[in-house]
Amino acid sequence: MSEFKMFCYQCSQTSQGKGCINYGVCGKNPTLSRLQDNLIFGLKGISAYLYHAGELGYRDKNLEKFLIETLYTTLTNVNFDNERFIKLALDVGRINIETMKLLKKAHNETYGEPEPVEVFTGTKKGKGIIVTGHSIKVLEEILKQSKDKGINVYTHSELLPAHGYPGLRKYENLIGNLGKAWYDQRKLFSEIPVCIVGSSNCVLIPKEEYKDRFFTTGIVGLPEVKHITGYDFSEVIERAKILPTLPEKNGNTILTTGFSLSSILASKEKIKE
Ligand code: SF4
Repeated sequence: MSEFKMFCYQCSQTSQGKGCINYGVCGKNPTLSRLQDNLIFGLKGISAYLYHAGELGYRDKNLEKFLIETLYTTLTNVNFDNERFIKLALDVGRINIETMKLLKKAHNETYGEPEPVEVFTGTKKGKGIIVTGHSIKVLEEILKQSKDKGINVYTHSELLPAHGYPGLRKYENLIGNLGKAWYDQRKLFSEIPVCIVGSSNCVLIPKEEYKDRFFTTGIVGLPEVKHITGYDFSEVIERAKILPTLPEKNGNTILTTGFSLSSILASKEKIKE
């Protein structure tokens, strides 16, 4: 790719049916092509944050309008004005911050502001479900629906921050966090014989050995993996009940999370020392 000045194959006029790599057949120049690529990169993040805020009922029409119009702007033969795209590149940064604020508000108002907490990284004796991805709403539903059914719930890797929310910590079946980097998941999920629920990125195509105990929900989809709709996780819970019991086992470390703005401000004098 590095020898290409650009790469665009978004329309049927694309050069030789393979892609415009020096200049667009339509007249798109390499600078414009890269500005559009960067813009789409920013819109991906905004989409993810807006999606998760929307799961909790928090929406913002202005942010959604920006997302729709800006994505449309990158389509073939809509806008060739580099100056407009430079302005949009600045706007996308600002809108990204606003979207993250909306998501923070959704989480904090629904589950309370995070508080510093130590997180167990081992397993407790019993049946289990691992929740991977970033959806706090999916985690909450699984905790709620499995709490009196002898199922222990573990977050995976990047879902560690969920443990800081008082509204989730109140569930005694929220046990701990398993796994390290997301790309180690194939090894972890093979070794720990419980159900896994994929609630957002980052999921990898699962191995055969755990595909039948992997479930997706919401925006996530994997080939030959059962998809759950409408936040009804009863099928996952029933499956978890008949899978092997995990042993009592300590983790190699204790993790910490929940360092929200309020908790840091409350400790500012100590931090200054
Ligand atoms: S939009 Fe323009 S640059 Fe892109 S593939 Fe079509 S002709 Fe080529």
